[in-house]
Amino acid sequence: MQSYNPEQALFEAKREFGEHGGVTPSIARSSTFTVMDPASMPEIFSSVKSPLKSGCYLYSRHYNPTNVVLARYLAALEGTKAAITTSSGMSAIACILLQLCRQGDHIVSGSAIYGGTHALLNQVLPDMGIKTTLVDPTDAAAFERAVTAKTKVFYIETVGNPTLKVADIPKLARMAHQHNAKLVVDNTFTPVLVTPAVIGADAVVYSLTKFVSGASDMIAGAICAGRELIDELKDLHTGRAMLLGPTMDPRVAFDLIQRLPHLPIRMREHGRRAMVIATRLEQLGVAVTYLGLTSHPQHRLFNEMTNQGYGYGGMMTVDCVTRHKAEHFLNILQNEEQFGYIAVSLGYHDTLMSCSGSSTSSEIPVEEQSTMGLSPGLVRISVGYTGDLQKRVRQMIRAVSSVGLVDTKDG
Ligand code: PLP
Repeated sequence: MQSYNPEQALFEAKREFGEHGGVTPSIARSSTFTVMDPASMPEIFSSVKSPLKSGCYLYSRHYNPTNVVLARYLAALEGTKAAITTSSGMSAIACILLQLCRQGDHIVSGSAIYGGTHALLNQVLPDMGIKTTLVDPTDAAAFERAVTAKTKVFYIETVGNPTLKVADIPKLARMAHQHNAKLVVDNTFTPVLVTPAVIGADAVVYSLTKFVSGASDMIAGAICAGRELIDELKDLHTGRAMLLGPTMDPRVAFDLIQRLPHLPIRMREHGRRAMVIATRLEQLGVAVTYLGLTSHPQHRLFNEMTNQGYGYGGMMTVDCVTRHKAEHFLNILQNEEQFGYIAVSLGYHDTLMSCSGSSTSSEIPVEEQSTMGLSPGLVRISVGYTGDLQKRVRQMIRAVSSVGLVDTKDG
């Protein structure tokens, strides 16, 4: 267990009050900002003055005051010196990779990653001369073998989407640093539970769309890292987060600021419920994967990396083996049991479920899905926290029984 307390760090971050003493910060909805003295303008462009150093804002694609408040809270939560907000998780990932890699460079990435990231690495970045080697995220030696003189980034998801494989962040960080590469970690599945930068990652990326928002009502992202890297990303003349333009709307930033204080409470409740459901499914002999079960191959490793007291998160999978059976299972769960919604995405207060191989991982070729351990019948479930838990368990038991997923010897 780690000793970092993200909840306390967030609480201790300097509070931002509204213009008139409001307990919530004001939303700064201005695309551009005045300077009191014309000489300040060139000083901002040459980084002598900056929004963060001297409060001189310039233009909201560069820095916006409301976005800066959210970024400061996110940095506190992650234990990083700095952070920036972006318009989506994908823009956060694209910007950090394009900041760290140039034409001819190389990335070693865990293969258990979100389908969109897989497509970015395999379809888009090669056109810019940036190649990626995909390896099993649980096999640190495979990262070492894949390194070349051009490797600039090791990329992983703390908990891989959708297979829930866990990579050893401290070990991969040490290895990346030995090769002068940076470790970039997507922590979308495990905010608060794991703080990757505290255990060695150089940059942490988020789809804030998911658990951090918690309301499935927005698309948003963030990059948390050291001050130097964040300054590079926001450099007016070269920064990828400046020039590719993935700006978060300050109204979105305001909404997220209101949700951060209850993120730890929500994460605990997602985890408490998922643990009860997963335990029951395992007792019934269902092929369930959940970080909190001792049967999860990286259960011990996850325990070593996690911050104490937040449980194991809201994500679990049930392997129905075939897509046909998975669709039958989803149909019963949604349309007969009202257990949750058949929808992509995750981290909502209600349960969201999808068959990953034919949806959010469909960018990944079928043969590669099989190598990375993604069965065509894998149902990914983001366990929500609405409704009576015992009723939810009964709904799930009826669904697995009627689809024939229960091991009849035990169940
Ligand atoms: N990272 C992970 C692990 C995801 O699951 C997703 C989306 O599902 C993303 C990144 C992309 O985030 P967004 O949809 O906010 O761009």
